[in-house]
Amino acid sequence: MNELSHKEWVGRASAIRFRDKAFIDGKPVSARSGRTFASINPATGATLAEVASCGEEDIDLAVAAARRSFEAGVWSRTSPQHRKEVLLRLAALLRENLPELALLESLDMGKLVKDAATIDVPGSAAIFQWYAEAIDKVYDEVAPTGQGDLALVRREPLGVVGAVVPWNFPLDMATWKCAPALAAGNSVVLKPAEQSPFSALRLAELAMEAGLPAGVLNVVPGLGETAGQALGRHMDVDCLAFTGSTAVGKLFLQYSGQSNMKQVWLETGGKSPNLVFADCADLDAAADMAAFGIFFNQGQVCSANSRLLVERGIKDALVEKLAERAAATQPGDPLDPASRMGAMVDARHAATVMRFIDGGRKSARLVTGGGRISVDGRGSFVQPTIFDNVSPDDPLARDEIFGPVLSVIAFDSEEEALRIANDSIYGLAASLWTDSLSRAHRIAERLRVGTVSVNTVDALSPMTPFGGFRQSGFGRDLSLHALDKYTALKTTWIKY
Ligand code: NAP
Ligand code: MG
Repeated sequence: MNELSHKEWVGRASAIRFRDKAFIDGKPVSARSGRTFASINPATGATLAEVASCGEEDIDLAVAAARRSFEAGVWSRTSPQHRKEVLLRLAALLRENLPELALLESLDMGKLVKDAATIDVPGSAAIFQWYAEAIDKVYDEVAPTGQGDLALVRREPLGVVGAVVPWNFPLDMATWKCAPALAAGNSVVLKPAEQSPFSALRLAELAMEAGLPAGVLNVVPGLGETAGQALGRHMDVDCLAFTGSTAVGKLFLQYSGQSNMKQVWLETGGKSPNLVFADCADLDAAADMAAFGIFFNQGQVCSANSRLLVERGIKDALVEKLAERAAATQPGDPLDPASRMGAMVDARHAATVMRFIDGGRKSARLVTGGGRISVDGRGSFVQPTIFDNVSPDDPLARDEIFGPVLSVIAFDSEEEALRIANDSIYGLAASLWTDSLSRAHRIAERLRVGTVSVNTVDALSPMTPFGGFRQSGFGRDLSLHALDKYTALKTTWIKY
């Protein structure tokens, strides 16, 4: 099914049904106010649907439904084995509905349908499966009290978890929050980004089909300032898990302090460095992965390898290889499996990326790209773009552009490379290329980031924690560590 032709994808797209209502307490419902927002396909400019725009009263309803289901114990007090079975069924349903979910993702935010079908949707299913399989293998603790006392340290679900997620990997970001939160027994209220509500709404339906009781997973599409803020300030939300920009992450910390002190977990921005040393064993592989690391998903990746730091002696050779890769990675119709790059999420974001590019034309050397283009006369597309001779204090090297824009900086020593790499408000990820095991460890130890990929980029798996240092956030998604965010420890001490 991943081998559908362009014509077949277009045919399926014309027949697809968009869920345009909120999903609260097991039912699709309109916003109380009747308000809607337009969801637009950025590859064509066409409006796909008018979607319920949830406000405070809708968030109240969703949180109340989540609270009721939690207190009733219909999910929170079921056995881990039961939760495992339901979440495994959900993983299977995601796979059964793969083409539909991939299309929803692509139409909604412009990514290549082929990527959605081979990466995003299988990734979501794999993560639900992973937490399902894990949850009945996680043991609690007995404290070493000695005789006469028994102290149990057990994990309990927190209650109502709010999740607010971005548009770059809509289904996956929702999954990273929902899978561990649900596996641990919580009820969830999920707010997808306004640019990409459809896969989350479909996920909630499929979860019910898999056996999740009504009210355990609620989805409230709407605007950040309204729906997102209402969830962040809600007095009956126990935990708020956020993925998005650093600026909005800081708002959630304020919302919490001004309301009920809910736990806030932030996965925010990045400006990840990719360090290539002259002893890199395979410069072609480094070029392939450096290009993937910045052009994949149109560069709209929190851990995008947006700063390429190269040892001076090999810089020109690597930049030349990268320019070739960029030339072969031009945007096309996201529904065409032959396309190498999709659309930017919306016209406004494309304009923001273009402002960085226009600034860069004056401060650095444009190697390739730099244009905003249309495909078949429509849509918001930006060419893969490379700047060389970027100064480490240029906005090109400091700001998260969140587009297909690579900034190349030369270095002369390990120390200099490390200094430039760590000179950022962010600390999400880094990559490094070297044939020396000692150097790999030496550098990895000193990079202030959550994930270091050696001789690859963006190493990522449900098995390993994902998250940042500094203003890239705190707390970790994925792996068993994510369960820490969605559970509280309870001590029960028995004297006998
Ligand atoms: P964003 O603007 O911060 O939005 C993220 C979410 O927050 C959306 O659901 C948004 O709703 C909501 N929101 C916006 N303003 C809000 C407010 N005032 N109060 C409450 N909620 C609000 O980020 P984005 O543009 O969607 O996504 C790109 C960012 O996400 C980048 O910075 C990227 O690095 C980051 N990201 C980080 C990770 C990670 O794991 N570290 C992963 C992926 C993406 P609306 O869209 O409806 O406004
Ligand atoms: Mg946004």
